[in-house]
Amino acid sequence: MEPSRRVSTLHAGGDSGWAIYFRALAMREAGQPVTMLAVGDHHETTPEPVIAHMAASARGGHTGYTHIPGTPALREAIARRVQTRTGVQTGPENVIVCSGGQAALFAALMAVIDPGDRVVFIDPYYPTYPGTIRACSGVPVAVAARPEHGFEPAAEDLGAAANGAQALLMNSPNNPTGAVYGPQTLAGIADVAESHDLWLISDEVYETQVWDGTHVSPRALPGLAERTVALGSMSKSHVMTGWRVGWAVGPAELIAYMGELSISTTYGIPGFIQDAAHFALTEGTDIETGTTANYRRRRDIVVRLLEGTNGLRLVPARAAMYAMLDIRATGMTGPDFAWALLEAEGIAVLPGESFGEAAAGHVRLALTLPDAELEAALTTIVRFAADRAR
Ligand code: PLP
Repeated sequence: MEPSRRVSTLHAGGDSGWAIYFRALAMREAGQPVTMLAVGDHHETTPEPVIAHMAASARGGHTGYTHIPGTPALREAIARRVQTRTGVQTGPENVIVCSGGQAALFAALMAVIDPGDRVVFIDPYYPTYPGTIRACSGVPVAVAARPEHGFEPAAEDLGAAANGAQALLMNSPNNPTGAVYGPQTLAGIADVAESHDLWLISDEVYETQVWDGTHVSPRALPGLAERTVALGSMSKSHVMTGWRVGWAVGPAELIAYMGELSISTTYGIPGFIQDAAHFALTEGTDIETGTTANYRRRRDIVVRLLEGTNGLRLVPARAAMYAMLDIRATGMTGPDFAWALLEAEGIAVLPGESFGEAAAGHVRLALTLPDAELEAALTTIVRFAADRAR
């Protein structure tokens, strides 16, 4: 018996980046010291008050089936937050709670495309994007955002790819590049979305991690709210990656259809998880600001230690919990550099190539270590790159 083409072609193209990550895990299991800068997960665990709230909710009886599109309280809290941050009128009817930003992306795509529809997305990209588009029976169409343009996409490139497309998927603040799309890029995206009548899916899971510039949700641009689905998550902002709680915000009618879809998928997100998320959103301001401050401080460490070094160029780190290093001066590819760094120094980073062709010759560091360990790793990386650049 053959599996469906849908599942057996999800990951066409392969990916050397995850092989490095798995090798790093195997080295660690074999007792070798490994410094892990490969994945975007916090080294801290979720703050105790959130865990206590989750446990109290479960003990209080919120363990049964719950409201499928999300508890009224959490939908209301998300709507209020989004309205405050964007200025766009947002009510609970515009919000659906999902199993993390990833499931929100899947649900949004399922709600806006039909089998065979083209979905434009921007390279470099979060590596699940092409597979998620294929999982929804769409056709992924990558548009390169070049390093020389600060990794922001050009409107003419998007316009050319958008012919006959149904949706455009964007991610600002961006993983892996740290780009925060400026007014000109956003105006170009708005123009392409309107002139090609596209749905716009805006992945904003890093909206609390902006170091330079201003994040503007495309939902806040004139006329775009009716064609935009914005995705958010508790994962990065509140140290809640493993809780799998996020959301999609969009036109009420589309959100209602996404609610119908979740009857066939998750049948709702656990009530005690939603209660904990509600607590974190409404009473966990210190968690959010503390988490943001941690990454801002680590980003400043990266800037201090890497600027002006030989063999490396730090891509301006404007946002998100990562740093992209241009290592082309070493003469190495991203995978060559990353593998050699792992084998020689026990430091795991991901090659830019695992995020798309536009990031070739780069590596991405996740700033997910305590400051002193991060400083030590960066010092080693600087020496390693300088040795190769000679
Ligand atoms: N979008 C981007 C750009 C990400 O980097 C991630 C996770 O790293 C996600 C979405 C998914 O986040 P989650 O499903 O944990 O909310």
